[in-house]
Amino acid sequence: MSIFPKRRMRRARSRNIQPLLREVSLSKNDLVAPLFIDELISAPRPIDAMPGQFRYPVSGIADVAAGLWKKGIRACLLFGIPKEKDAEGRSAYHPEGVVQQAVRRVKAEVPGMVVITDVCACEYTDHGHCGIVGETRCGPDLLNDPSLELMDKIALSHAEAGADIVAPSCMLDGMVGSIRTALDAAGFDEVLIMSYSTKFSSALYGPFREAADSGFSFGDRSTYQIHPGNSREAFLESQMDADEGADILMVKPAGFYLDILAEVATIGLPVAAYQVSGEYSMIRSAAQNGWIRERETIIESLTCIKRAGADLIITYFAGEVAGWLDEA
Ligand SMILES: [Zn+2]
Repeated sequence: MSIFPKRRMRRARSRNIQPLLREVSLSKNDLVAPLFIDELISAPRPIDAMPGQFRYPVSGIADVAAGLWKKGIRACLLFGIPKEKDAEGRSAYHPEGVVQQAVRRVKAEVPGMVVITDVCACEYTDHGHCGIVGETRCGPDLLNDPSLELMDKIALSHAEAGADIVAPSCMLDGMVGSIRTALDAAGFDEVLIMSYSTKFSSALYGPFREAADSGFSFGDRSTYQIHPGNSREAFLESQMDADEGADILMVKPAGFYLDILAEVATIGLPVAAYQVSGEYSMIRSAAQNGWIRERETIIESLTCIKRAGADLIITYFAGEVAGWLDEA
């Protein structure tokens, strides 16, 4: 039964009424800018697979953060590319490690910037896996419990350097509880944990591996990340991290997983969504070819991620979008 013509949906879509009724709009407070800091370079180096993105030297990171701050971006997520890698990822928790140095520089230059650090070992291990590897029933793989201690050390070293939020991304069982206990024992009860709580084993991470130099020497990460087809497992992972004391949950990647994002948001904790390198590069390359309109596509992608339930969106477009929001 149609209620037309009493109900005319287009009445509310006239050009002057429509903006008043918008349910979701992007704001700068939604955006987190991921940044790559390379200990081995002295000038910014473009990332080929992510046109428009760079690795920055430690010496230049404070200026980059200050530039984002000036545009109104209030949070950044730091990834380090160390000069040395070994089997145990020792450079990941060194007090003078690349991320630790970067955190101190950013906090010194822009004290208000919320500095989030990626807590993982894959950029710091020579085998490229996210922690300690060893023999399992199915051959060599990431060992869970021995890797937890490593994550505690990394998180602690980031907190000591001044990080506001630590973000474990390794998808180890028990990582949030373990890190929370370690932080609290050291007096860092004010440091938040943003868990990569629901992280899929996705083909969209490809460009990041060039960006962060984190490819692996054997196997893949499918034994610790979630298969794209599994939604109940995806929900349970975030629920468990909430129970372990996570302050912010995360769904990664974002755009292909909006159903999961909406579901994870029902847990009640703030939720971040990570628009990953592959999502970035797909939009960027199509736009560079003239096949889609860049600005509209970027804004639409982020608006839809927010609509699905994200309180925070980690996106390589953050700086650009902040500029556009000023114009709007
Ligand atoms: Zn990792």
